[in-house]
Amino acid sequence: MSERPRLTVLSGPSGVGKSTVVAHLRKEHPDVWLSVSATTRKPRPGEQHGVHYFFVTDEEMDKLIANGELLEWAEFAGNRYGTPRTAVLERLEAGEPVLLEIDLQGARQVRETMPDAQLVFLAPPSWEELVRRLTGRGTEPPDVIERRLEAARVELAAEPEFDVTLVNTSVEDVARELLALMDVV
Ligand code: ADP
Ligand code: 5GP
Repeated sequence: MSERPRLTVLSGPSGVGKSTVVAHLRKEHPDVWLSVSATTRKPRPGEQHGVHYFFVTDEEMDKLIANGELLEWAEFAGNRYGTPRTAVLERLEAGEPVLLEIDLQGARQVRETMPDAQLVFLAPPSWEELVRRLTGRGTEPPDVIERRLEAARVELAAEPEFDVTLVNTSVEDVARELLALMDVV
């Protein structure tokens, strides 16, 4: 591990496999600390408060934003999402590798506020495969899938803004590449 771990941001279109890659990575390396975001989205089956997200009301999100408690936040496909600031800063201070899994707008904010951060883009092998994964996940109704695909077109166009692109063909390969980028061996 390097002496001063950097903040690593993983972004990419909805359905590309970010959560799957991160879950695999953390199974092998629980020492990699993943920030738990706050969101106004409703939990999917199996999602737990405090583990996958802090599920908050609109009013609670308003307060988090007004009190400056979020490192970054964005509205994505009709819901708000944000990264609690203190926990991230404490982990970085403690010298631990920190990973954020956030959308493009959030990645741009982190680039501004923490220029040291490493921005990693997770790309699908093809547009067709992205549609297949997002649809196949079966967690969203057709209108939400449509909104997410609209957002995906914008996110894919922003790939050149990132420091590194990883193509998610194999979850194992991508997790390994991401660990190497984070200097975790
Ligand atoms: P995201 O977190 O980026 O929205 P998910 O991790 O929920 O995406 O993955 C979306 C769907 O794609 C899931 O059904 C997941 O099992 C599948 N998936 C993820 N990575 C791969 C891969 N490398 N090959 C095939 N399917 C994948
Ligand atoms: P989902 O609803 O599928 O869990 O997440 C939708 C999108 O929101 C994904 O692109 C995910 O990376 C992003 N996201 C999750 N947490 C945060 C966050 O704290 N901030 C920002 N900006 N985006 C987030």
